Amino acid sequence: MRLILLGPPGAGKGTQAQRLVERHGLVQLSTGDMLRAAVAAGTSVGRTAKDLMDRGELVPDDLVVAIVSGRIDQPDAKKGFILDGFPRTVPQAEALDRMLADKGLKLDAVFELKVDEDILTSRVEKRVAEMRGRGESLRSDDNPEALQKRLAAYRAQTKPLVAYYAQKGALNTVDGMLPIPHVAAAIDSVLSSLPQASGSGAARAESSS
Ligand code: ADP
Repeated sequence: MRLILLGPPGAGKGTQAQRLVERHGLVQLSTGDMLRAAVAAGTSVGRTAKDLMDRGELVPDDLVVAIVSGRIDQPDAKKGFILDGFPRTVPQAEALDRMLADKGLKLDAVFELKVDEDILTSRVEKRVAEMRGRGESLRSDDNPEALQKRLAAYRAQTKPLVAYYAQKGALNTVDGMLPIPHVAAAIDSVLSSLPQASGSGAARAESSS
């Protein structure tokens, strides 16, 4: 299965992606994680991305598209993947369509995790406090200014993807305000209604009867 999780910061994409990894044997392809790894490794991509990320702005489309394309080609992604944090702009979505067509792959479903904006800030603040409590190092963009920028970037650049995928008939909107297990159940219910989703990630439903 190949899935996209769309939603603003704090919507629960990472949490749901993790559950999908465990239950369906997919790999989670988080562009945020990939970029943070590039920053930590000090690669040229990381050097370009760092300041933009710290400010809560998006990094250039071509750079992210290249990272994702390379990642999809790795052997572990053959069993299926969840894109988390990508695509984030309409040009990225168009590039993804071309990329998948070139690779002979198709998407199975797009999920929008819908959450009221006014609770997102408090969710992210809670996550920061919990990480602090566990003594974990904080993300350099988990501060109020960068968070507001990330929300603004979502609104202006990523939200249009909801219409983009709705038009293709691929969009499934899930209420991200529900408790985590309910959100997971809503996602699973859509997945079980997909013809390709029957059986495990490795199995393929050949019969259409
Ligand atoms: P969140 O969803 O909490 O905002 P992510 O970990 O997905 O966080 O992303 C962190 C930052 O990484 C973004 O604010 C942006 O700078 C950069 N980034 C991640 N994915 C993309 C993308 N697809 N296009 C451009 N920038 C991205």
